[in-house]
Amino acid sequence: MEARRAHHALSVEAAERITAEAAALIAQPENAAARDAMQEKLVSLVEQKLTVSRGELGSFRDRGSVKVLVSAAEPVGADRLARLRDAVTKSFAAAGEAPAPEQLIMETKVDEGLIGGLRLQVGDTVYDGSVAALLGRARRELGENDDLDHALTEALSAQIATLSANPEIYQMGTVISVSDGICRVSGISDAMAGELLEIQGGLRGMVMDLEKDNVGAVLLGSYDTLQEGNWVRRTGRITEVPVGEELLGRVVNALGVPVDGLGELHTAETRPIESPAPGVIDRKSVSRPMQTGIKAIDALVPIGRGQRELIIGDRQTGKTAIAIDTILNQKGKDMICIYVAIGQKESTVAGVVNTLREHGAMDYSIVVSASASESAPMLYIAPYAGAAMGEYFMYKGRDVLIIYDDLSKQAVAYREISLLLHRPPGREAFPGDVFYLHSRLLERAARLSDEMGGGSMTALPIIETQAGDIAAYIPTNVISITDGQIFLETDLFASGVRPAINVGLSVSRVGGSAQLGAMKQVAGRLRMDLAQYRELAAFAQFGSDLDKTTQATLRRGDRMTELLKQGQYAPMEASDQVISIFAANAGYMDDVALKDIARFEAGLIPFVNEQYPGLHGEILSGKKLDDGQLAKLRRAIESFKESFE
Ligand code: ATP
Ligand code: MG
Repeated sequence: MEARRAHHALSVEAAERITAEAAALIAQPENAAARDAMQEKLVSLVEQKLTVSRGELGSFRDRGSVKVLVSAAEPVGADRLARLRDAVTKSFAAAGEAPAPEQLIMETKVDEGLIGGLRLQVGDTVYDGSVAALLGRARRELGENDDLDHALTEALSAQIATLSANPEIYQMGTVISVSDGICRVSGISDAMAGELLEIQGGLRGMVMDLEKDNVGAVLLGSYDTLQEGNWVRRTGRITEVPVGEELLGRVVNALGVPVDGLGELHTAETRPIESPAPGVIDRKSVSRPMQTGIKAIDALVPIGRGQRELIIGDRQTGKTAIAIDTILNQKGKDMICIYVAIGQKESTVAGVVNTLREHGAMDYSIVVSASASESAPMLYIAPYAGAAMGEYFMYKGRDVLIIYDDLSKQAVAYREISLLLHRPPGREAFPGDVFYLHSRLLERAARLSDEMGGGSMTALPIIETQAGDIAAYIPTNVISITDGQIFLETDLFASGVRPAINVGLSVSRVGGSAQLGAMKQVAGRLRMDLAQYRELAAFAQFGSDLDKTTQATLRRGDRMTELLKQGQYAPMEASDQVISIFAANAGYMDDVALKDIARFEAGLIPFVNEQYPGLHGEILSGKKLDDGQLAKLRRAIESFKESFE
């Protein structure tokens, strides 16, 4: 990998040297004719093709004039200038706004840096037919190629052969102010919301705010050297990230740039970070389970592929732990996992990556990290970037699991950006459209119809609450967007119930239809039983004389609660979960001491699997267990009990 990176740096360097040499060559006096031909080419192209953009037309109406700047390395002849002038007048006339001669302010500039050819700027739009632009393009293409020797000859000869190739057309603007990671740019009048901008010095920006005479952009990266007056160039593309198989096993930032030191990506494809969610017709309902491997979830709040299930709780209640265990459980299940870390400490993210790597889970996972030390815009775009990477797989018919850890921090980053852009603050100082921030993200999770390839993207957004307040602004928003929530509680966590899931408050609105038949069969009554148990347990604290049935309910509930405890990094197969929940439900654990429950379970599962080897497959088939199968399961459990001590 090191070698590859070194090679790459070398090729960038070589590309620069080579294009510089080509520039010197073209600048030689004997090549005057070729340079002149390029000027002519651009002028005639402009005569044929020049059109006025809407933004340009708007600026003309506002200002009452349009500026035309002609730059070239060598003076441009009067007849060519006149032809350019005509072309501009005509293009405005075609748009219904012919400028009077004095409204068209024409300037010329000699710029030797252009080497040859000509650059025309009408308003903010640049038509760059200069040799410098041509070589710049060649250099970019060369620099991206590892096999330089071969690429070199090809790219350069292709570019030089078409010395009169199409000009580059783009809009240029100027930075008019910079502060706190936001800049205002004048002059890019046709910029689109979400468009990626190139800024002098290699920095990138993203358009967030469109005003009448300027554009607000967030800066993606360190902006220490950015100054007023720097140029800004439109790319014409919505901010995008690399996508593809090659990302598996990698840790990237919110722009898809690797941060794991394992070398550059060479993906062939990119996707815009924001794209419309699949429509109703392209979806089908959730019908296949997404096993988390966590008993309390798979039994009580089952999640289906394509579902959006919120994990919500105060800090340090085991939210991330659930997400990570779920990823570990996807091993061998043909699921692509994406973990988006938003606003976390770098050391915490490194810990997660290590865990995934140690368990062999990075092979099918991508980690997108926008850490707490990065700028607010990076935190803001990270979830969208992760979603784009997931969509690539979903639209290829694959199943994807994406975790956003956590969206509270994304909302805070968005609030920061909005305040800097002077948007009016609303409830809790969040801007009015903060709901849309999360709804458009989570709508992208889906189970696609068969015609669309049947892929899915299951989303597990995480929200951190303050003192268990799920009625605060952001939590209520996200609860209303998702298909259910897993509610984690500090008190439960502290009392040793881990995962600290509040079974009463946790729901899954659609996952039930995706639950395995056997699981539904054994866990069907569990939720009710546990609710009844909790009521009795609260009541039983006050009295001592309890009747037999109450005692039995308490005994069963205690054991069930104990059984649903589960350590980290130990996800359980669905069939094994069925065995242990069935055993507890059927009363086989009633006479086992609480402290022995974990040991009982640990012995029971391998024993039953050995006695009844077909059970695993029968449960995974998704069907309910019939009487014969249940009888076999009972016999296996009974014979285990005889040997247990
Ligand atoms: P934060 O708010 O800081 O992001 P969190 O809610 O994501 O915290 P975790 O980091 O997942 O919580 O877990 C907090 C601590 O609890 C960790 O030390 C973790 O190892 C431990 N923990 C989580 N789940 C379990 C579990 N099932 N069994 C034992 N320990 C657990
Ligand atoms: Mg966490």
